[in-house]
Amino acid sequence: MVKAKIVLLPGDGIGPEIVAQAARVLLAIGQKFGHDFQCEEHLIGGIAIDTHGDPLPAATIAACKASDAVLLGAVGGPKWDDPTAKTRPEAGLLGIRKAMGLFANLRPIQTYPELVDASPLKREIVEGTDILFFRELTGGIYFGPSGRTTKNGIEEAYATEVYSVPEVERIVRLAAAAARNRRGRVTSVDKANVLEPSRLWRQVAARVMKNEFPDVGYDVVLVDSMAMHLISRPRDFDVVVTSNMFGDILTDEASMLPGSLGMLPSASIGADGPGLYEPIHGSAPDIAGKGIANPLATILAAAMMLRYSLRQESEALAIESAVKRVLASGARTQDICRGGPSISTIVMTDRVLQELG
Ligand code: NAD
Repeated sequence: MVKAKIVLLPGDGIGPEIVAQAARVLLAIGQKFGHDFQCEEHLIGGIAIDTHGDPLPAATIAACKASDAVLLGAVGGPKWDDPTAKTRPEAGLLGIRKAMGLFANLRPIQTYPELVDASPLKREIVEGTDILFFRELTGGIYFGPSGRTTKNGIEEAYATEVYSVPEVERIVRLAAAAARNRRGRVTSVDKANVLEPSRLWRQVAARVMKNEFPDVGYDVVLVDSMAMHLISRPRDFDVVVTSNMFGDILTDEASMLPGSLGMLPSASIGADGPGLYEPIHGSAPDIAGKGIANPLATILAAAMMLRYSLRQESEALAIESAVKRVLASGARTQDICRGGPSISTIVMTDRVLQELG
C-alpha cells in the first residue's frame, strides 16, 4: 500500500475540467489497489495572476516540493496575452519546472489503431508507432550564455549551447533504464558532425551505454536525419534521448504522428523528488467551459505519474489498457470523433472508470 500526496495544479482554460477528471481516475485506482492518495489543489498560471498577482505563488512551490507528485492541467489564454503585462502565465510553468529541478521531459508517442486515420501520415507508415522521448530540459542552448553585441556598427545576437558530462550522463541513464522495461533500444540524437557539445554528448552517451547498459541496444542518429526518419519510419524507434533544443523540435514533430493532441501526456522528472505530469496540449480557450475537452491526455499523464513517481507499474498499465478498451468500444470526444457521435469530458471519464471496474 502506497501513501501519496498529490498536488493538482488545474491552471487555466480547460485545465480545471480535465484535471478534475484525472483526479477521479487517480482516486479510483487508489481505492481499487488499496493505496491512500491525498489530492490538494493549488494555483498556477493566469488564475494565480488574477488571485495573487503572481503566476507561481510561493505556496504553490512549497506544496509541490513537499508532495510525491504533481498533476498539471494547462496555463494561459487570451485574457493574459497582453505583451506589455508585467508577468505571464507561462512564467509559472517554467518557474515550477525550475523550482522542482526537473531535468528530463518524457513524451510517449503512441498511436491507437482506432484513431490512426486521423494521422496526417498513411496508416501503413504510422500504425504501431510507440516511441518514448527523453528531452533534456534544463541545459543546452536555451540556458547558455546569450545576448546582443554591436561590432563595427552592426548588431549581432548569440546563444551558446553548453552541456556538462553529468548533465548528459543523468538523462542517458534515465532513458536507458526506461528502455529496459520497453523494447530495449535507445537512440541518441545529436549534431556531432558540426557541434562540439554534440560531440561531448555522443562520447558520454556511448560510454554510459557501454559500461552501464550493455544489455540495451544503442545507436546514434543526426538530428536532421531524425527529422526525416520520424515521418518515414517512426515504428523503428523505441526510446529516443536528445538535447533540449533538438528535443523541443522533434517532440513537437512527433506529436503530430498520432493525429490527436488530446491523447498525448508528458512527464518532467528530476533526480529524485516529485515529478510533474501534464497533457502536452494547451488550455484550449476555444472550448473551455463547454464540457467537451478530451480528458484522456491528462488521465494518461496520471498513469505516467503512477509509473515514474509512485512506482506502481500495474496501476499505470491498468489505466492505459482501460483507455485502449474505451477507444476500442467507439467512445469519442469531439476532437477525435471525425464527424461521428461524441461524448462529454465527464462521460468519457465515466467510461474509463467503468473499464477500470
Ligand atoms: P491548445 O493546445 O490549447 O489548442 C489547440 C487546439 O487543440 C484547439 O483547437 C483546442 O480546442 C484543441 N485542444 C487542445 N486540447 C484539447 C483537448 N484536451 N480536447 C479537445 N480539444 C483540445 O493550443 P493553443 O490554442 O495554441 O494555446 C492556447 C493557450 O494554451 C495559449 O495561451 C498557450 O500559451 C497555452 N499553452 C499552454 C501549454 C501548457 O500549459 N503546457 C501548452 C501549449 C499552449
